[in-house]
Amino acid sequence: MSVGHMPDHDHGLSLETALEFLNTRELDAGDLVDHLHRPSDARAWFIEQGTLHGDAAEAWSDADLARVRVVREALREVVDAVVEERRPRPIAVDVVNAALASGASTRLELDGATIKVGHRHGAAAVDDALATLASPIVAELASGRPDRFRTCANDTCRWTFFDTSPTGRRRWCDMRTCGNRAKAARHRARLAGVG
Ligand SMILES: [Zn+2]
Repeated sequence: MSVGHMPDHDHGLSLETALEFLNTRELDAGDLVDHLHRPSDARAWFIEQGTLHGDAAEAWSDADLARVRVVREALREVVDAVVEERRPRPIAVDVVNAALASGASTRLELDGATIKVGHRHGAAAVDDALATLASPIVAELASGRPDRFRTCANDTCRWTFFDTSPTGRRRWCDMRTCGNRAKAARHRARLAGVG
């Protein structure tokens, strides 16, 4: 008996991409704005990332979008709690656990004399999508470097990101945008002090 090397297909998300999804609700001029307006916005994002079969043609409902938002907020709460070194709200932990439990699960499949690693999908496409979203974040908490989760130091941004820098001292989501803005502000402050 032999074992197939590769799962038949994989719907995984990178940690970076999962955190990007959390930032689909972000600050804009001091107000929180949500870039997921319609259920199809959320569904399209997951299909684009290869997380859902594009042929999973069923449309998502308003209830699906509401679930996406709840799980997104719960994941953000858990990440924020880690960054802020505090206890997350228990309801957020419950929501993340429910999302993990209702998604696709890994299973062995027999193909003649070969064992393949496949998966069984959750009850609905949105179940799979949300479990896939939670997985890389939870995996990082479990066996990665949770101390590298960050919130952008720009108070008008507050994006969540993962610090992969060698020194672990990255403060901004993006040096070119938030980092430069901070640098420019310090520069202006210095000039004002001199003047
Ligand atoms: Zn930022």
